[in-house]
Amino acid sequence: MENCVFCRINKNELPSWKVYETELTMVLLAKEMEVQRHTLVIPKQHYKDVTDIPTATLADMMEVAKKIILHYEKIL
Ligand SMILES: [Zn+2]
Repeated sequence: MENCVFCRINKNELPSWKVYETELTMVLLAKEMEVQRHTLVIPKQHYKDVTDIPTATLADMMEVAKKIILHYEKIL
């Protein structure tokens, strides 16, 4: 989607703090990190609603989120 900031980040058209990615999921640190560990785990492909996201992608996102949480628990 042309005007979607996350799609533009995924195409490297905008700068980001991408800290981890898989084939389906990307993990970004929030630009304005007002809350420590504020981290976005989002699908690389654009979907209108969470109910539109394929189950395999949702599963990948949750696996990635778990990995990030465990990482934060270890280092912070
Ligand atoms: Zn998008």
